Amino acid sequence: MYYVEESHPAIIDKDMWQAVQLELERRKAFAKKYGIKKIYYATVKNPFAGRVICGYCGSVFGRKVWNSTDERLRRVIWRCNNKYKVKGKKGCENKHIDDKVLYQAFVNTFNAILENKAYFMEKWKEGLKSDNALVRYKSKQFIEILKNAKPIEKFDMDLFFSIVEKMVVFDGKKIIVGLLDGTEIEVGIE
Ligand SMILES: [Zn+2]
Repeated sequence: MYYVEESHPAIIDKDMWQAVQLELERRKAFAKKYGIKKIYYATVKNPFAGRVICGYCGSVFGRKVWNSTDERLRRVIWRCNNKYKVKGKKGCENKHIDDKVLYQAFVNTFNAILENKAYFMEKWKEGLKSDNALVRYKSKQFIEILKNAKPIEKFDMDLFFSIVEKMVVFDGKKIIVGLLDGTEIEVGIE
């Protein structure tokens, strides 16, 4: 009779462990850079929390609901947290942005990536050879996502969280979408 040795499926490989550590460091540095207290507070209902950054002053944007007795006029907007910073002092002059615009900006960004798929695939294939475990991990993940992707018409939460680090907003006219691999894509707004 043979004795079957217990297996150890919980062991994650070294590469994965390194990638996780680097991702935790990235989040910490990101939160520190933009003065974000809670980096993990983005939710399904509020995917942009902690990810919309002011292009003027580098502060994070906060979500506000503009209520109206008329439901059709109810709007969700994001505006710079420095807008009314100190009493008597002029706050940040960046304009607010409608959250519908942010959803659309992601759709446009993703479709722009697909249109330039060959370029990005090449870039991420290079990333697979990086010395940095997180770059290798993200490159692999991005290749997987892009491989069979089709253009999207609606916002996709999973895609958004997988690829977007931040959206830097300028006067409601321009958004620079920063991907988790460091790529920046400019989105114009009509
Ligand atoms: Zn600002």
